Amino acid sequence: MKTALVCGGGGFIGGHLVKRLKKEGYWVRGVDIKYHEYVESNADEFIKGDLRDPRLVAEVVDQPFDEIYQLAADMGGAGFVFTGDNDADIMHNSGLINMNVLDESYRRNVKKIFYSSSACMYPEHNQMDPDNPMCSEGSAYPANPDSEYGWEKLFSEHLYLAYARNKEMQVRIARFHNIFGPEGSWKDGREKAPAAFCRKVAETPPGGTIDMWGDGKQTRSFLYIDECIEGVRRLMESCFQGPVNIGSEEMVSINQLAEMIMNIAGKNQDINHIPGPLGVRGRNSDNTLIKEKLGWEPNYSLMKGLEKTYSWISSEINK
Ligand code: NAD
Repeated sequence: MKTALVCGGGGFIGGHLVKRLKKEGYWVRGVDIKYHEYVESNADEFIKGDLRDPRLVAEVVDQPFDEIYQLAADMGGAGFVFTGDNDADIMHNSGLINMNVLDESYRRNVKKIFYSSSACMYPEHNQMDPDNPMCSEGSAYPANPDSEYGWEKLFSEHLYLAYARNKEMQVRIARFHNIFGPEGSWKDGREKAPAAFCRKVAETPPGGTIDMWGDGKQTRSFLYIDECIEGVRRLMESCFQGPVNIGSEEMVSINQLAEMIMNIAGKNQDINHIPGPLGVRGRNSDNTLIKEKLGWEPNYSLMKGLEKTYSWISSEINK
């Protein structure tokens, strides 16, 4: 039986990954600083602990796991990452987690380790035009991320690649682009745009008004969680080290995103544009490399993913 450790297993993507690995027949240990807020973990073992502490990491990485998935990070949506208020914590906490987990994995002879980077590491200067953002993997340098969260991701990509070069570790690195779906943050200040608008639309009566940060003309693409997990597993099984984008190429403006959710809810609401933390003007996944290396790319429609997410958030509100 294959063994896997999921760091960040109490989080949104980690929780879904644990489920998937269990379905595939793995023995799974999850670790997180908190228990999952919305579901009971499917992991065979779940350790609650702080991965910034090397002693805890030594306890958790106590065997040569076949696979480690490193998803733990101090992260959130624009309201957490782009205000500037959490920069020191984001860099310190996520940096320490990556250094600890990777080094202990090396010492324990772990076969393969996955690292979840982010599209936030792409240079700001290539994402000023909302209609033509450039996020191909090769466009990463000269580096110029617009957030400290992005700089930490870039640093950690280099860290993993250095261990691959100098210590012969097998690493796999994905740059996730706005992953969304059920069982993720929707009201704790760390939620991202799809969950935030599902909540606002659900909580506001027809004819009411919802707030939106900025003019809503900024663009993004959003990837449904099942496709993200599929991409992670395919990358892990492949010989390609990455970094590679795991994202959707279905780019929409934030105004369009909110309108899609209103359509799902069957509600007409006004949008009140207010100042707030925004991030880059445009961002979209470029799937040329993933198609070439994995012979696969995500193709789940945004609308279908939003329907499932809206339905889950509505049921959480009504609990
Ligand atoms: P999440 O916040 O739900 O999951 C991260 C988990 O890490 C949380 O459960 C958190 O408690 C845990 N964690 C934080 N500090 C810890 C510590 N010191 N010790 C142990 N656990 C700790 O976020 P997610 O959306 O599931 O993201 C997973 C990974 O994917 C993160 O590395 C994130 O940066 C990356 N990513 C996510 C997205 C996205 O759109 N969701 C996009 C790009 C990259």
